[in-house]
Amino acid sequence: MKKEVIILGAGPAGLSAAYEILKNPDFNVTIIDRANIPGGAGASFQWKDHTLDYGPHAFHSRGDEPEKLIREIFKDSPNELVNGVKKVSIYLNKKFFKYPLQVGEAIRKFNPFLSMRIIFEFFLTSIFHAIVSIPVESFENWGRKRFGASLYKLSFGNYTEKVWKTKPNAISHKFASEKIQGFSFVNLILKLLRIGGQVTEPYYQTWIYHRNGSGQIYLKLAEKIREKGGKLLLDTQIESVDYDDSRIKSVKIKNNKKTDTLVCDYLINSIQVSQFINLLGKSLPFLVKHSSKKLKYISLVLIYIEFELEKISDNHWFYLLEQNYSFNRVTEQKNLSSDTIGKGKTVLSFELTCHLGDADWRKTDEEVFELAKKECLQIDFLKDKVEQISDFTVKRVPNVYEIYYKNFEVNAEYVLHS
Ligand SMILES: Cc1cc2nc3c(=O)[nH]c(=O)nc-3n(C[C@H](O)[C@H](O)[C@H](O)COP(=O)(O)OP(=O)(O)OC[C@H]3O[C@@H](n4cnc5c(N)ncnc54)[C@H](O)[C@@H]3O)c2cc1C
Repeated sequence: MKKEVIILGAGPAGLSAAYEILKNPDFNVTIIDRANIPGGAGASFQWKDHTLDYGPHAFHSRGDEPEKLIREIFKDSPNELVNGVKKVSIYLNKKFFKYPLQVGEAIRKFNPFLSMRIIFEFFLTSIFHAIVSIPVESFENWGRKRFGASLYKLSFGNYTEKVWKTKPNAISHKFASEKIQGFSFVNLILKLLRIGGQVTEPYYQTWIYHRNGSGQIYLKLAEKIREKGGKLLLDTQIESVDYDDSRIKSVKIKNNKKTDTLVCDYLINSIQVSQFINLLGKSLPFLVKHSSKKLKYISLVLIYIEFELEKISDNHWFYLLEQNYSFNRVTEQKNLSSDTIGKGKTVLSFELTCHLGDADWRKTDEEVFELAKKECLQIDFLKDKVEQISDFTVKRVPNVYEIYYKNFEVNAEYVLHS
């Protein structure tokens, strides 16, 4: 008899797990999601004649498992996928810099005093840390130790605080070493001194994307899952996950006001851990519930602004590093694939992170638009485009990114291994 597998969440993780498991004929798979389309944060939505993603959703192409999976599901229609070389910038001090920072450009465009200060601080910090051993406990420690104070603040510190709404000294250094790859200040200096150094890793430079938007990848994955006999229960609430002493037995669901109990041999969870813990009910040990409450998430308000212009820039996206901008990142999706945007127009999406329910989250659509317009007027190359704005729409995505507080892994491990 086939074993029953239930997967909670039809985002990229849940769908790809289902797809792989269904390669084995010994399993039936049912995926449950409260959303009405598969794809989670990778789904797209339709606004007028534009197909829009939640921020930029291209895949880094480096030949690893996610890319192999995507190429496999589109093997009969490879032309649906498009490739490109990243054009990502940093907007800092009213100037554009390539992302990650390029040596010559940084030295040329920073004022000479700042450049000298950065290099001086870097050497001073390196010597200091070679003599004095200070434990690295936070993102701030990590950044200052690696880059020196000025470069750390300019390129990572201020931005990190803005995105995570958290002082960098409360964020784990493990998050830093994971996120800030692909750029080596040591190599930057070596290159500057003409003695070698690879400043960025090559895989950060290329991407693959679906010509009709990121969501098409997950619609295709869902189609393949159904073809192999997998079931997708969308628009379905998970009421509880029921277990006895040793294992999970069933999942209670509600769909169209009808409740049902699905029995399972295996359960794979891809929804937020803290939500999953709530579904397990009250009898869990106090410490598990307590640790799960410490796993926190940041939410996202996105405003999509339509311009009566063919194109605004060549950037796929650019970062607004400074704290005087509320928005973190601006994407021109048309540059990933022009098929996603209606004729004669372009759309910029502006991302604003916030805590669920805070003042930014509660802003009306009009208020978000006024803020974005004000910030466009502060960005040199956008200020003269404001008159070409023809429309806007706002999306709010709750709890979208985990916040890697110091010791987050202790709480996560406690929850996951108990
Ligand atoms: C703005 C933004 C830009 C990004 N850009 C990129 C990029 O360029 N390239 C890239 O590779 N990645 C990017 N990512 C990351 C990518 O979106 C995530 O890594 C990916 O979506 C995670 O997949 P997941 O399945 O783990 O979670 P999710 O995509 O969050 O999916 C979880 C699913 O679970 C469902 N769910 C949650 N709670 C419940 C519940 N209680 N009951 C029922 N269903 C529930 C949700 O509806 C959702 O469908 C970006 C993310 C964001 C937010």
